[in-house]
Amino acid sequence: MRAAKPSRGPFWGVLLAFIVVALCGSAQLAGAASKPTIANDARLAGDRERTRFIADLSKKVEVTVFALGEPYRVIVDLPDVSFQMPSGLGNEKRGLVTGYRYGLFAPGKSRIVIDVDGPFLIDKAFVLDARPDQPARLVVDLVPTDRATFLAKLREAKPASAKEEGATPAAGSAKQADGKPVVVLDPGHGGVDPGTMSASGTTEKEVVLDFAKTLKAKLEADGRYEVYLTRQDDTFLPLRERVEFAKQKGASLFLSIHADAFPERVAEASGATVYTLSEQASDDEAKELAAKENFSDAIAGVELPSESDEVVANILIDLAQRETQNRSLIFARSMVGALAGNLHTKAMKSAGFRVLKAPDVPSVLLELGFLSNPEDEKQLKDETWRDARAKSVAAAIDIFFAKRLARMPF
Ligand SMILES: [Zn+2]
Repeated sequence: MRAAKPSRGPFWGVLLAFIVVALCGSAQLAGAASKPTIANDARLAGDRERTRFIADLSKKVEVTVFALGEPYRVIVDLPDVSFQMPSGLGNEKRGLVTGYRYGLFAPGKSRIVIDVDGPFLIDKAFVLDARPDQPARLVVDLVPTDRATFLAKLREAKPASAKEEGATPAAGSAKQADGKPVVVLDPGHGGVDPGTMSASGTTEKEVVLDFAKTLKAKLEADGRYEVYLTRQDDTFLPLRERVEFAKQKGASLFLSIHADAFPERVAEASGATVYTLSEQASDDEAKELAAKENFSDAIAGVELPSESDEVVANILIDLAQRETQNRSLIFARSMVGALAGNLHTKAMKSAGFRVLKAPDVPSVLLELGFLSNPEDEKQLKDETWRDARAKSVAAAIDIFFAKRLARMPF
């Protein structure tokens, strides 16, 4: 995992390989405006010698297919596709493939991420026309190779479009209307990255979005705050763009909202936990959690900064962030106070969360509860619970800003 101190060999980052563009001819642009493309099924075929991924599409589209390493993945970028897949799809393992995910990656852009268990080559990638008896089909063929060949191919094929990785930052200016404090709420994960999941299939991305919307409504009710969500729907957003969004909006407070899972200790792991940023994790569990949350970008196939960028960024954080960090701690304590009685045994922790790294915006990450715990899961899905909990968090936000207005020392 790419936590605060990467310990792996030379970082070769996000290298893109084998852009295979299956052009679908001049009719494509005209067709795009009419009906959205629907993907309604997918499957794997073959064995370790050759593994084939197939997705059924309502019409032929342009796709970009490339490989990523650490971990080994195939990324398929498509235009806006509505995924209407049977539930439970993607957990299938076959040949070189250990699973796959799909979803909206950015406005107008969808993505399929296929996990591969070792070095591979994309032997073929194409989209077949629909026929009277068959839908249009996306086909990706993978064959095994050794690591050296995999890396060599990645370097060789770094395409010009690599820059395009990631979503376009949400539009917005750094204004602060009427001098109201700006609060940015960040529902974690989304789209191609479901986050953690309960045994019954409830995803983190859905419960945190519902919670963020409820909290936004509460905060806006009395007109004292200007509130923005980093995502409004089931869209993926890279971690750095969540941070960037808060900066663009001129946020005075950033709250990233998540739900945890600890399937190994279902009974003990329950309740909310409040996290702040630190280079050294407060304990092993916090360290693991940060690694898991930071993995969001990798899951969606987003380019990560190189190791050297990371080191520089950490030094800058040290210098600029002390004051911000103090404020983050004040807010975290307010939250722990407001959520009393509904907290995990150790309620306040810290670790190297990428999403909390805005140097000038007090930032806190709230894990609402554990989706691995059936009682927590039930609550996370319950509107009354959500409403009560959002009320507590809103109270913590009120306390934080009341202190600021009173110029109390932070
Ligand atoms: Zn999360």
